[in-house]
Amino acid sequence: MQDDLKTRLCDAVDAAFDRQIDFLSELTAHPSTRGNEQSAQEFMARALTDRGYDVDRWQIDVEEIRHLPGFSPVLGPYEDAVNVVGTRRARTGTGRSLILNGHIDVVPEGPLDMWDSPPFEPRVEGGWLYGRGGGDMKAGLAANLFALDALTACGLAPAGDVFYQSVVEEECTGNGALACLARGYTADAALIPEPFSERLVSAQLGVIWFQVHLKGLPTHVAYAGSGANAIEAAIPLIRALHEMEHRWNAAENRPGDYAHMEHALNLNIGRIEGGDWTSSVPAWAVFDVRMAIFPGQSIEAAKTEIEQVILDAARENDFLRNSLPDIVYHGFHAEGYALSQDSSARAGAAIAALETAHHAATGEALVREAITATTDARFFGLYADTPALVYGPRAEAIHGFNERVELDSVRRVTKATAMFIADWCGVEEIQDATG
Ligand SMILES: [Zn+2]
Repeated sequence: MQDDLKTRLCDAVDAAFDRQIDFLSELTAHPSTRGNEQSAQEFMARALTDRGYDVDRWQIDVEEIRHLPGFSPVLGPYEDAVNVVGTRRARTGTGRSLILNGHIDVVPEGPLDMWDSPPFEPRVEGGWLYGRGGGDMKAGLAANLFALDALTACGLAPAGDVFYQSVVEEECTGNGALACLARGYTADAALIPEPFSERLVSAQLGVIWFQVHLKGLPTHVAYAGSGANAIEAAIPLIRALHEMEHRWNAAENRPGDYAHMEHALNLNIGRIEGGDWTSSVPAWAVFDVRMAIFPGQSIEAAKTEIEQVILDAARENDFLRNSLPDIVYHGFHAEGYALSQDSSARAGAAIAALETAHHAATGEALVREAITATTDARFFGLYADTPALVYGPRAEAIHGFNERVELDSVRRVTKATAMFIADWCGVEEIQDATG
């Protein structure tokens, strides 16, 4: 790419950056937690329509994706889980195609008194934008859109087809990205600006969610010796799961991308519920577990071991032996994915293009990093033979309180993305451009 074009694209990003922050603030003000994404998706669809994209909006139909690899089980039907994709077809079609993907769903904000200001009333202070979802990953959605705008401002369009995706369900299943695949959206590469500090994600873990249901024999607390306490029965099971976590993290089980990490796989007891009354021995308890797996580790084998660990621990417990727990899978059934293992020429070319763009935007070499979470990249990489580059701005406390994203970082990522698009897809003149 010509230096002149790089400069023009960067200038165009700078010129629109105040509007980009306004757009990000407005998007972050939509409280798009699971089940509440509609107004944010409406906002995205309007932004794409205004820019002349062909907009496709549809509600995910579980029956259409249930049979596909990468599907994660869900409890209940999908009510109003709506994806938005904006398509811009190239006039000449001489370049490579690209998916720009981001997720609109955000994790719950948690107790409001833990926030310094309301999570869905975004504010800018000291060069950061604060608000739930601002970093994870509405800043990325805005960067994708305004990177494309920068080309338009230069009188140019990508010379390959571009698919701008705003998907739901990233934070619990990935079924939003899967539904895009099932609907036929494929391309030569995908870019996902998740907030990992301007680093290229070289590998990501898989994630499994499950619930453990315990049933006890209800009795008055005065006769607790004769009743089985379902909440206390959970404790040895949790201990056994943590011992399994320790084994899975052992040095001999780590693939190369994670060899240096002592504890990449984290088991989290994320929720627990049980009992009905302070003076009644609890008759039931349910706890929710998130466990990670390495790229290459089989989900089915992992599930078998998880079930074995729980049942073995239950059989050692006097009460549980007679009332074995039920294990219910809901949410993530995500395999790990390693871009580093993709030796195709296309992956090499996509990474090289991003390295060049990142260097031009930041003056620094692109650092690669294996992350201890999952992203929607796995759908493109594992099930569509499409190299998926996860590269986005610096954010902090993305699932915590006072989530924030650094605006200078957003600016650099937007510039890098604009240059990446121009390089990867090539550019063509907009024929009816006025200037
Ligand atoms: Zn995210």
